[in-house]
Amino acid sequence: MEFLKWQCALNPILLSPEETAAAAKAVFSREQAMKQVFDEASRCASCRLGKSRTNLVFGDGNLYADLMFIGEGPGEEEDLQGIPFVGRAGQLLTKIIENGMRIPRSSVYIANIVKCRPPENREPLTDEANACIGYLKRQISVIRPRAIVLLGKTALRYLLGHDKMSIREARAMTFEYEGIPVFVTYHPSALLRNPDYKKPTWEDIQRVMRFLGLPIPSKLS
Ligand code: SF4
Repeated sequence: MEFLKWQCALNPILLSPEETAAAAKAVFSREQAMKQVFDEASRCASCRLGKSRTNLVFGDGNLYADLMFIGEGPGEEEDLQGIPFVGRAGQLLTKIIENGMRIPRSSVYIANIVKCRPPENREPLTDEANACIGYLKRQISVIRPRAIVLLGKTALRYLLGHDKMSIREARAMTFEYEGIPVFVTYHPSALLRNPDYKKPTWEDIQRVMRFLGLPIPSKLS
């Protein structure tokens, strides 16, 4: 890359703008690229949620993950710790990953549609989600996972724009975001409210595991 920079200094028309952008991109590691997104989100006050947050809840996990989970927004515990999915619903998601999929939680990446806690755990409002979605899209472009799992309706609505589709309909389909296959299942908090969702959720997770080539355990541990 040093050679490239030196050549460009001598002959600024050697590289096209696209090539220059690609070369500039190549010198950034994923860690640097993600830190840039994090730093911007840390200073963000683009919507009202930034005023009431205790901590930014940016994302958690492996920047080289094959699999990314996307939920709705931080709850109380997440807001206090600054880490997504650490409350009751998060503990259930961790069980699904570690006891169901039998992979460490630290091997995947977990994020939300909004990075700051909506008061009283309400759903993010449309203007809040629209103000925040750019950070998530940049996180996806840094990680480029092999698959994405959307947890619940809010994620389906704001990442893919399907605001009329039910989870029941969406979980039968495979979507695509920027060339990445996207699967949909219930949010873990829905499983806590309604245990009947556990079986279909496990079926959805098995579909993702088959896609990733992970072995399916005969029973949950
Ligand atoms: S929710 Fe997102 S857009 Fe709103 S203040 Fe927080 S980081 Fe910024």
